[in-house]
Amino acid sequence: MKLDYCPRCGKLFARGIRDICPNCIKEIEEDYEKCVAYLKEHPNITIQQLSEATGVSVRQITRFIREGRISISAHPNMYYSCESCGAPIREGSMCPKCLKKLTEEIKAQQAIEARLKAEAQHVRPETYQIKQAERQSERKDR
Ligand SMILES: [Zn+2]
Ligand SMILES: [Zn+2]
Repeated sequence: MKLDYCPRCGKLFARGIRDICPNCIKEIEEDYEKCVAYLKEHPNITIQQLSEATGVSVRQITRFIREGRISISAHPNMYYSCESCGAPIREGSMCPKCLKKLTEEIKAQQAIEARLKAEAQHVRPETYQIKQAERQSERKDR
């Protein structure tokens, strides 16, 4: 058993499977129930309206949606923010634009790594030693 500070309320608690304290878990469950109950009666509201009506933060509601606990498929006006640029989205964690950018960045990074690896394999030990010798003589000149 390990004592840790709850990242949500800052209180000391015995850290278990969950990374927040039992009190916060209870509060989040209550928030969840409130949201679900309100959504049942008002299926066409936005996240902002839901937040104002229930007092649950937009961030927490977004978390419920990302965790798959609240499904927005039945609520046409509910959008949450793209993690990267904040654009309104209804699925995943990023908008298509940011997702594309991220994929391209990963591809570019992989290309660089592949090139470095290929270069490293092509450098023969002799070439490396010559280069080292050149570098050392350069240093002496200074
Ligand atoms: Zn807590
Ligand atoms: Zn985005």
